[in-house]
Amino acid sequence: MTYLIQGETGDWEVVIGLEVHAQAITNAKLFSGAPATFGAGPNENVSLIDAAMPGMLPVINEMAIEQAVRTGLGLRAAINKYSVFERKNYFYADLPQGYQISQYLHPIVGEGVVTLDLSDGSTRDVGIERLHLEQDAGKSIHDQDPKRSMIDLNRAGVVLMEIVSKPDIRSPEEAGAYLKKLRAILRYLGTCDGNMEEGSMRADVNVSVRPKGADELRTRVEVKNVNSVRFVMQAIEVEAERQVEVWEDGDEVVQETRLFDPNKGETRAMRTKEFAHDYRYFPDPDLLPVRFDDDFIERIKATLPELPDDKKDRFINDMGLSAYDAGVLVADRETAAYFEDAAKGRDAKTVANWLTTNLFGALKKLDKGIGESPVSAIHLGELVGLIEDETISTKIAKDVFEEMLKTSKAPGDIVEEKGLKQITDTGAIEAIVDQVIADNPEQADEVRGGNDKAIGWFVGQVMKASQGKANPGQVNGLLRAKLLG
Ligand code: MN
Repeated sequence: MTYLIQGETGDWEVVIGLEVHAQAITNAKLFSGAPATFGAGPNENVSLIDAAMPGMLPVINEMAIEQAVRTGLGLRAAINKYSVFERKNYFYADLPQGYQISQYLHPIVGEGVVTLDLSDGSTRDVGIERLHLEQDAGKSIHDQDPKRSMIDLNRAGVVLMEIVSKPDIRSPEEAGAYLKKLRAILRYLGTCDGNMEEGSMRADVNVSVRPKGADELRTRVEVKNVNSVRFVMQAIEVEAERQVEVWEDGDEVVQETRLFDPNKGETRAMRTKEFAHDYRYFPDPDLLPVRFDDDFIERIKATLPELPDDKKDRFINDMGLSAYDAGVLVADRETAAYFEDAAKGRDAKTVANWLTTNLFGALKKLDKGIGESPVSAIHLGELVGLIEDETISTKIAKDVFEEMLKTSKAPGDIVEEKGLKQITDTGAIEAIVDQVIADNPEQADEVRGGNDKAIGWFVGQVMKASQGKANPGQVNGLLRAKLLG
C-alpha cells in the first residue's frame, strides 16, 4: 500500500518522522517534589525550583529515570547506562529558568523499534532513534486579561519523555498506526497515560517529500504540537501536498516550523527553524551525569508486563486468531484482558468475533468503554458456551445478547426464563416438519418434482413455527429425508 501524491511532474513519496512528547507517570516533577497532577488550579503545583528562584538546585527524580528505562525496554531499545542532562537555551515567559533541562549528546535510551499493525493485517517496523528525558514548560494564557498575559507554571518541570522515530514512516495511515501502537505500549507499561486530549502525548511531525524512487532526503518541515491522531494524519496530508506544489513551482521548501490549523485544514509558517547549535547546549553544571548498572535495568525488566506484540503472537499462534483480529484485540490492554477472560475454555475465534463485531458495535452505540460494558467477560464466554454445546442457535444467541446488554443478566438465566432452549429432540422437530409439509402440499410437490431450492423455504417455515428454537441442521436433514429421500 504505497502512498503517493500525484503531482503535475509525476508521483511523489512522503517521508515522515515523529517526535512524540509523552508525559511520564511519576509521583513528582523531573527535578522538584511538586506534584504533576492534571487539573490543578493555576500555579498550585509549583515549587521554588519550578519557578526558578535564585539558588535553587535541581534533584533528579529516580522514578523518572525508571520510567524512561522501562519505556526503552518496551521499545526494544538500547539502554544507556551513562546519560547527561544539558541546558537547552531559549527565552520564553513560561520557562523561567531561561533554559530547558533536556538531554542532547547522551540520551538515556538509544535505538529501538516499534512494529506497526496496519489495517490489512500486515506489519511494518519503524525505527526509534532515541528517547530522552526533559522538562516541560509552563503555559502562557492570553485570554484572561485585555492587557496582560498570565503564566501558569503547573506544567513547568513535569517529566517528558521525548521519543524520536527515524524517518521511516511513509504515509498518514502509517503515522496514525505508529501513534496508536506507541500509545498502546506506553499504556501497557504504565509509563504514560497516552491521553492526547489532556496533552500528555503531543506529536511534532517532520515531513518532507521526494520524487518517487529517489532516496535523497529533501528539506523537512516540522509541524509542531499536533494533539490527536486524526490531526497528525490530516497535517501530513496537507503539508505534503503543499511541499509538492512548492517544488513543482520551481521553488524550494524552507526548513521551518509550521502549525496545523484543523479548522482551515492547512499548515501555517510559525518561525524559521532553529538548528541545534542555536540552542547552545551544554551539560548542566548543577547535575551529575546519570549512571546506573545492569542490575538496575534487570530489576525493571523483571517487572515488565506481556507487551502487545508478544500478546498478539500468542493470540495468533496459540489461540488461532487472524493477525487482524489479534491486532485489534491487543491494541488496548483492557480489551485484551476482557478477551482472555471470555475465551477461557471456549473457541477463541468465536469469542473474538462476538467481541469485535457484536460487543464493540453495541458499546459504540452506548458510548461506553469496555470497562463499563453491561456484558461481562464471563457472561460473553458463557453465551459462546451455550452456542457450542447447542443449547441455543447463533440466531437465538443474538436475541439473548440484546437482553444481556439491557439487563446484564447471565445468558443461561435469560435462556431459562424465556424458554429459548434449542429443540434437538428429533421427535419434536419431526412433528413440526410433518405439520408444515401437510399445510403446504403445493410447495411440497414442487420440491418432490426436482426444485430442491424450495427446501430452503421449508427450513424457514419450520424455524418460524418453532420460534427459531429448532436445530437448523436437523430440520434440513429431516426435510430432505421426507421430501427427497
Ligand atoms: Mn522536546
